Amino acid sequence: MRSGLLSVIIPAFNEQGNIERTFGAVSGILSENGILYEIIFVDDGSSDDTFLKIKELSDTHPEIVGLSFSRNFGKEAAIFAGLETAKGDCAVLMDCDLQHPAETLPEMYQLWSEGFEVVEGIKTSRGKENPAHGFAAGTFYKIMSRATGIDMARASDFKLLDRKAVDALLLMPERAPFFRALSSWIGFKKTEVFFEVNEREIGTSKWSVLKLTRYAIQNITSFSSAPMQFVTIMGIVFLIFSIAIAAESLYKYFTGQALEGFTTVILLQLITGGVLMLGIGIIGHYISRIYEEIKARPRYIIRRRIGGNK
Ligand code: UDP
Ligand code: MG
Repeated sequence: MRSGLLSVIIPAFNEQGNIERTFGAVSGILSENGILYEIIFVDDGSSDDTFLKIKELSDTHPEIVGLSFSRNFGKEAAIFAGLETAKGDCAVLMDCDLQHPAETLPEMYQLWSEGFEVVEGIKTSRGKENPAHGFAAGTFYKIMSRATGIDMARASDFKLLDRKAVDALLLMPERAPFFRALSSWIGFKKTEVFFEVNEREIGTSKWSVLKLTRYAIQNITSFSSAPMQFVTIMGIVFLIFSIAIAAESLYKYFTGQALEGFTTVILLQLITGGVLMLGIGIIGHYISRIYEEIKARPRYIIRRRIGGNK
């Protein structure tokens, strides 16, 4: 059995009402169970008093580290900022709205101390969410699971990672990392814990359907080139079609019954044009992703940092 420092990483975007509650819940449970911990709040460019709340708490609690981004860089960026800052022998990621129950932490830590290197939180229910969001998320995970070969439907960002896994993740150079898939991609000795998604009590979900769609497209293309294969597959389908139609046209030409089939011509024009443009669009999207990556800008910019200089 090993033991060591647990870094709890909590991304927070406009969560002023949740900081204190979450801190209370997490620190309460961890100290009850005699687990040594630090808590890293990453303020993802909130426009409310989130960072002020973190700062106030950290004045009286030296185990708090606070980072504040210069603007909203997104949850993935916040996760990686937290991982880079973490000093622990293991690190756990959880949401700031207590939808990831703090009660599960001791169990995760226990599994880590038994030698597991990645402990994944698996949702037993998705909690209450609006149907549009549920549908979008469901579709996204179905496509994602197929594209990456990793079962994503019940996966969450609630994970505990051993130091080795954290270091492996930090080696990933991509500018737009997708934590949930990457933490599965790195391998290591894995196990699962199950948790019920609590309802968010304070504040609202930070995901609009538009934001979720953008996030989905970005993550699918960053983890899979399947959409590009689609262009190839459509090419093959059209080639087969065109051979059949070419044979028919030639036959008609030589038997003197050409000039028919005007509808076919129009349809072919439309379909080919559509598929070509879609194909170019997909390729264009990948090129823009390459462009983003090659610029190699930092994933986030830190405006302020408090605590953690013990
Ligand atoms: N979050 C973030 N940056 C963002 C959006 C969300 O750091 O741009 C954080 C948010 O503060 C919360 C977690 O990510 O701690 C999950 O967000 P939310 O509860 O809004 O998502 P949901 O639970 O609805 O999927
Ligand atoms: Mg939430």
